[in-house]
Amino acid sequence: MARLVMKFGGTSVADLDHIRNAARHIKREVDAGHEVAVVVSAMAGTTDQLVAWCEAALKERQTFDAREYDAVVASGEQVTAGLLAIILQDMNVNARSWQGWQLPILTSNAHGSARVLKVDGAELSRRLRDSKEVAVIAGFQGLHKETGRITTLGRGGSDTSAVAVAAAIGADRCDIYTDVDGVYTSDPRVVPHARRLDKIAFEEMLELASLGAKVMQVRSVELGMVHNVRIFVRSSFDRPEDIDPHGNPPGTLICEEEEIVEQQMVTGIAFSRDEAQISIREVEDKPGVAAAIFGPLAEASINVDMIVQNVSADGKTTDLTFTVPAADYQRALDVIVKARSAIGYARLDCATDIAKISVIGIGMRSHAGVAAQAFRALAERAINIRAITTSEIKFSLLIDAAFTELAVRTLHSLYGLDKATP
Ligand code: ADP
Ligand code: ASP
Ligand code: MG
Repeated sequence: MARLVMKFGGTSVADLDHIRNAARHIKREVDAGHEVAVVVSAMAGTTDQLVAWCEAALKERQTFDAREYDAVVASGEQVTAGLLAIILQDMNVNARSWQGWQLPILTSNAHGSARVLKVDGAELSRRLRDSKEVAVIAGFQGLHKETGRITTLGRGGSDTSAVAVAAAIGADRCDIYTDVDGVYTSDPRVVPHARRLDKIAFEEMLELASLGAKVMQVRSVELGMVHNVRIFVRSSFDRPEDIDPHGNPPGTLICEEEEIVEQQMVTGIAFSRDEAQISIREVEDKPGVAAAIFGPLAEASINVDMIVQNVSADGKTTDLTFTVPAADYQRALDVIVKARSAIGYARLDCATDIAKISVIGIGMRSHAGVAAQAFRALAERAINIRAITTSEIKFSLLIDAAFTELAVRTLHSLYGLDKATP
C-alpha cells in the first residue's frame, strides 16, 4: 500500500467525460489499496475566462484589486473539485471535496502569486488512514490566515498545491497527470522529435520550468526539491484500465541527481517568447549608472533577466541591454524614460518580438565548449544572437522570435536529443 497524491491539470478535467476518466484513474489506485489525495485544476479554459472577465470588468481604473481577482479566479478549481467528488461517489468511491481554506493551505499575502507557507495535513491523513476517504482538493488556491482571504498561487499553481499536499501528508509519490506522458527533452508541440526522459534531476527541472517549459510550475519543483517529494509526470489520456497500479507506467520521475545513472551533457531545451528587450544607447561610462537604471526598475517590482553591458570603446559612453517580462515592458519603458536625466543616455532601442532559447544540463558542469557548439550551429543557419547569459548548468540565447522553432530544433539535433526515427 502506498500513499499517493494524484493531480489532474485543466485538459485532464476539461469536461464531464474527462472528469469521469480522471475518476477511473483514481478508482484504480483506490481499488489497488492505495491511500489517495487528489488535487484538481479548473476545467480547461476556465481560468483564462475568469481572468478575462476581471479585465473586462474595469472601465475607469487601470488595475483591479488583487484580492477580488483571487476571489474570482479561485472559483474554477472549486467547481472541478465538487464535480469530481460527485462522480467518485457515483462510482461508490468514498470521496470528499476540500477548498484550500478548509484544509487549510496557508499562504503569503501576495494575491495573484501567493507562496504556500504551510499545509495542515492532519485531518486528511486521519481520514485516509481511518476511512480510506479520498480527498479531492481544489488546487491553485489557499488562505492568508491573518486576513482570512482566499489567495491564488499564480498560473499553473495547482502543481504547487499538489506537491505541497504531498509533503504535508508524507505521500510516497506525487503523480502529475497531464496531456503529455512525461517531461520531454523539449516541448513536444514544437519539437516533434523530442524524447521523453525517464528521469530528470530537480535542478534541471527547475531550470527547464523557469526558462519556459510550462509542464510544471517552477514553485512546485522548488517545493519538491526542498521536501524531497518524488514527482512523477504522466498522461491522464492513457486508458485507466490499461494501467497496472503496481507496474511501471510511462512517465518521468523528477528526482535527486544521484538517482540518475546515465547523465547526458544536455538534458533539455526550453524557450520563452514572454520577454522584451530594452537597449539603452550611449550611456555615460561611469560608476553609478547601473544603479540609476536598475534601482528604479527594482522599486517598480520589475524583474530584470538578462543584462549585457558593452565595454566602452572610447571610455566615455557604452550600451546597456537587458530583458524584462513582456507583461512589464511598457512599465519598464516608462521607468527608464522618467529616469533619463539621472541615467543620461542618447536613445532607446527596444524589441518585443524576441525569444530566449535555453540549453540545460547538469553535464555542462564537467564539459567545456557546450555553448560554443550552439553559436556555430546557429550562425550556420544565419540566426543572429542578440545576447547571451550562462550559469553552471545552463546557457540562454536571445534571438528574433521568428527563428524560435528553427533554433530550438537545430540545437535539439546538435546535442543528440532527437529520438531515433523507426
Ligand atoms: P496541465 O493543464 O495538465 O497543467 P500544462 O498545459 O500546464 O498542463 O502543461 C503541459 C504542457 O506543457 C504540454 O502540453 C506541453 O506542450 C508543454 N511542455 C512544454 N515543455 C515541455 C516539456 N519539456 N516536456 C513536456 N511538456 C512540455
Ligand atoms: N487553473 C490555474 C491555471 O490555469 C491553475 C492550474 O491549472 O494549475 O493557471
Ligand atoms: Mg499546468
